[in-house]
Amino acid sequence: MKTTDVVTAWGRILSGSMPMLSIEVTRECPLSCPGCYAYNDTHLGGGVVLRELSDYRGDDLVEGVVGLVRKHRPLHVSLVGGEPMIRHRELSRILPRIIELGAWPMVVTSAVIRIPPEWTANEHVRVTISVDGLPEHHDIRRKPATYERILKNIEGCRVNVHLTVTQPMMERDDYLDDYFEFWNGREETRSIWLSTYTPQVGEQAPEILTPESKRRLIEKLPTWRQRFPKLLMFGKSGEAFARPPASPAQCTFATMSANYSADLKTRVEPCIFGGTPDCKQCGCAVSIAMHCLQDYRLKGPLKAGHFVRGSMRIGRWVNRFRPQQARPERWEHADGAVKHLGLVTIQDASAREDDKRVEVA
Ligand code: SF4
Ligand code: SF4
Repeated sequence: MKTTDVVTAWGRILSGSMPMLSIEVTRECPLSCPGCYAYNDTHLGGGVVLRELSDYRGDDLVEGVVGLVRKHRPLHVSLVGGEPMIRHRELSRILPRIIELGAWPMVVTSAVIRIPPEWTANEHVRVTISVDGLPEHHDIRRKPATYERILKNIEGCRVNVHLTVTQPMMERDDYLDDYFEFWNGREETRSIWLSTYTPQVGEQAPEILTPESKRRLIEKLPTWRQRFPKLLMFGKSGEAFARPPASPAQCTFATMSANYSADLKTRVEPCIFGGTPDCKQCGCAVSIAMHCLQDYRLKGPLKAGHFVRGSMRIGRWVNRFRPQQARPERWEHADGAVKHLGLVTIQDASAREDDKRVEVA
C-alpha cells in the first residue's frame, strides 16, 4: 500500500466508512476440519447454522456482495466461507468490482481448488491459504486439501500462508521451525501469518494450547522473526499474544469490522468467530496484530490508537448526515455511544523494508 492509499483510507474513515468487511460467500465446504468455527452450532448465535442458510450463486451472489461493499465502503474485504473457491467463477467477477470500489479484496481458502494465478498477479488482490501444520497433521485434519493438492493449486501464485497453531504441534520442539522453514522457502509464499487456536468460552478441545505451550511459543517469536523473514510478526506480538483483548468491546479488530454470513444478511458477531469466543485466549493473527499496533508511537506521546480513534469519532459525526440505511451499523452502540475503534493497515512481509510494515489510517 502506498502513501496515497493511506491518505485515501484515512479520508474514508473520516467520511464514516466501515474499515473492514468479511463475507461468507457460500455455506458449502468439501472439508470437515476439527475445530472449524464456521460450522460450530453457535457460530450464528445459536438459532440457525451455516449449512442451513440459503446462499447465493451467479449474478445474485456477485451483486449481493458488491451491494454490501457499496453500503459499507470498506478498505478491506475478506471473502471467506465455507470454502469460497466453490464460487470461484463468481469471485473472478467480484474481485475487480471490489477493486473498482476502492477496497482491497482477500480470498481466504483451503486451496482445495486451483487458485487462478491472474488473481494474485493483481497487486490489489490477496489470497490467504490455511495450512494447519506439517503434512502429518494437516493432511489428516484438512483432507482433501492435502499438501500435495495445495502445492499444485498454488502453482504460479503468490499467497499468504496462514497457520493456526494447535497443541499437538507444540509436542515436538522444532515442529514449527520445520513448518516455517518449508513455507518461508517457497517461492509462492508472500507472507506467513501465525494464529493460535481461539476457543469458545468454556470449550475444552485438544487444539487449545496449554499455558506452558503458549509461553514457549511466545518465547520463540523473536527468533523466528529473525530466521524467517516472511513471517509477519511485530516487535510487540509476544505481548499481544500473552495479553489479548479482554472482551470484544476492547478488540479493535472486532469493533472496526462487519461480518456477514452466506445469506448476505445474517451478521456474524462479535467477530469472525461468531458465538461466544473466549477473548482471553484469542490467538487470531489479525486481532493480535491490531491490538499490539495500537501502541505504535507516531510522534511524542501521540500513539496510533489516539490518532485513529480521533478519526473514527469524526467519521461517526459525519455518519449522522448519511441516510439511515447507508450507515454502517457497528459504528455505534444501540444507545448511540461511540465504540472504541482504531485502524491499522498491516503490511505484507514483502513490503517490510519499504514501509516498516505499519501504516496508520
Ligand atoms: S475449510 Fe474452513 S470452513 Fe471448511 S471445514 Fe475447514 S475450517 Fe471449516
Ligand atoms: S477477534 Fe479475538 S479478541 Fe477480538 S472479539 Fe474475536 S475472540 Fe475476542
